[in-house]
Amino acid sequence: AERPQLLDDEEGGVIFFSAPSSAAGYGYANLERQRQRLPVYKFRTAILYLVEKHATSIVVGETGSGKTTQIPQYLKEAGWAEGGRVIACTQPRRLAVQSVASRVAEEMGVKLGEEVGYTIRFEDVTNPGVTVIKFLTDGVLLREMMDDPLLTKYSVIMVDEAHERSLSTDTLLGLLKKVQRRRPDLRLIISSATIEAKSMSAFFSSSKKRPIQVPGDHIPEAVPAIISVEGKGFPVEIHYSEESFSNYVEAAISTVISIHSQEPAGDILVFLTGQDDIEAAVRLLMEDGQAPESRSSGLLILPLYSGLPRAEQDLVFSPTPKGKRKVIISTNIAETSLTLEGVVYVVDSGFSKQRFYNPISDIENLVVAPISKASARQRAGRAGRVRPGKCFRLYTEEYFVKEMPNEGIPEMQRSNLVSCVIQLKSLGIDNILGFDWISPPAPESMIRALEVLYSLGVLDDDAKLTTPTGFQVAEIPLDPMISKMILSANEYGCSEEVITIAAVLSIQSIWVSMRGAQRELDDVKLRFAAAEGDHITYLNIYKGFLNSGKSPQWCHKNFINYQAMKKVLEIREQLIKLLKRLGMILKSCEKDTLAIRKAIVAGFFAHACRLETFGQNGMYKTLRSSQEVHIHPSSVLFRVNPKWVIYNSIVSTDRQYMRHVLAIDPSWLTEAAPHFYQLQKPYPAAY
Ligand code: ADP
Ligand code: MG
Repeated sequence: AERPQLLDDEEGGVIFFSAPSSAAGYGYANLERQRQRLPVYKFRTAILYLVEKHATSIVVGETGSGKTTQIPQYLKEAGWAEGGRVIACTQPRRLAVQSVASRVAEEMGVKLGEEVGYTIRFEDVTNPGVTVIKFLTDGVLLREMMDDPLLTKYSVIMVDEAHERSLSTDTLLGLLKKVQRRRPDLRLIISSATIEAKSMSAFFSSSKKRPIQVPGDHIPEAVPAIISVEGKGFPVEIHYSEESFSNYVEAAISTVISIHSQEPAGDILVFLTGQDDIEAAVRLLMEDGQAPESRSSGLLILPLYSGLPRAEQDLVFSPTPKGKRKVIISTNIAETSLTLEGVVYVVDSGFSKQRFYNPISDIENLVVAPISKASARQRAGRAGRVRPGKCFRLYTEEYFVKEMPNEGIPEMQRSNLVSCVIQLKSLGIDNILGFDWISPPAPESMIRALEVLYSLGVLDDDAKLTTPTGFQVAEIPLDPMISKMILSANEYGCSEEVITIAAVLSIQSIWVSMRGAQRELDDVKLRFAAAEGDHITYLNIYKGFLNSGKSPQWCHKNFINYQAMKKVLEIREQLIKLLKRLGMILKSCEKDTLAIRKAIVAGFFAHACRLETFGQNGMYKTLRSSQEVHIHPSSVLFRVNPKWVIYNSIVSTDRQYMRHVLAIDPSWLTEAAPHFYQLQKPYPAAY
């Protein structure tokens, strides 16, 4: 059969994508047949040959061709898991790790957590000695290097979704290149949905240093092999909007409704940006479905985002009930990381949530920003898996052609590098600026990160990790500022409380999403609100939750997300174990919130702001860079506007909003970080 070319969709019209597979079926034999129908199956021998011969192999193939689920199994079948060795496969996203691991366990007919397992932060579903195929986030593999720098238990490491260029993926690739020099027996597979392969290949070919010869070991070919996994595809018709929309959620909903009333059967996949707009869209569509003579009856509406409870995730992957049409409303997790069967229509908002870091203002933002053409093509491709499909782009063709960037910027070049730097330091990489980066970050960002780490007491004058603070902060798998806050809590005698705060800050939100019902939510918040700010409010909520006997009804009544609270309990348990290992004692300060607040400031002094203009949602300026910021409407301090605050993170919409805000006394800043504030007096004499 002839392979259709991937046409440029600038020409207008049709693009082809690969890899249809059979309809979902059940039973082991059926699964086996499905496996053999995947495009990657034809390349099984070739892939195994290349992995044998080359230190690094690069596999390129469209989403759904079987890279993630099949290649680890081929490797196992070929003996790479013998002799106690493990095959690793990394993913940038936690949800993808869980989902592909359970799929592979099912295909192999084993229980998840035995031969096939997974590890994500705060959740280890493996059985050491038994697990031979292990899925994990790239971040977790980086952490494993701290205990075992050469990753000796792995025979093959597959770095999947490399085209995403996540911060951890890029860091990992730089480190793995170093590991390879010392471990000629290690094989790397880099897999990618797009042809980023050339730059990857160049990266792994260019080496100033020769591999270190280990006597008796066969030295594999250093130049990477590239293999493209092809499959026949179905055409996807692209439809552009006539004009641009000011509200993409509404535009998406009306597009879904018109697809449902005009197009033949087939599931719909909608790309929005995050939990907020996804839940808003789900609610609006459901409300529409309840209206008499509704045009959206017969729709099965399902959200998909990270942090979604397990049961709801499973619904997304289960076959569409007869007579129904599934509408999956997703973040860009469904762009390449997950394969959804049965999708024939794609609705693309043209946006995703992205991190942006500005080293001048030292602010990292989470922003809803335009996607790249490469992403738009991937999204469209999700419509052509089972039969010819359609993609509805909620933007104009002119916008696509003239304004959308060709490629996204690697996360490395738009992130705060504090976590990345501390990780490299803890692996003994001293010359950070000279590290072998696949795409070097801005030197300004590096310098900012070093500065913050120095002020946190994590690095010394020679930019080496301090003992014990630096090593302890590196050991805790959280943002270094949160880790420092926890360590300081030990000194202030309030670790019980502060690990609760740390756990809450590590999840998305403890509130159920209440878009459109802000007033009710505000009323509920008053029940828990603490004058000191959000952090202390979280403690009140946690206490209330415990007093209720961890009751789901209590959560429901108070608009609190029960799943999130369960996660908080889990993370707390993990943190307690970790702190015991670091030799810390768990201690409660009872009602002394001063101790708690000082511990928080010890971690987050760099995020201090002063109120500039009073009034409804007044304006603050960051002390560090005089940036205008405001308190986020979700904060209990939204209407209070204390003079001095610190925040945990910034989100941008029409303005820059601080999330998780705490009122402070400015003298705590100089106390916590004298060197950081020695030059710029935090407050004018008038105060
Ligand atoms: P790739 O990594 O190349 O994008 P995958 O290995 O993830 O491809 O998927 C290969 C095939 O496995 C898909 O086309 C789909 O048929 C099937 N599959 C993967 N995950 C699931 C799942 N959770 N449920 C059902 N089928 C799945
Ligand atoms: Mg994959």
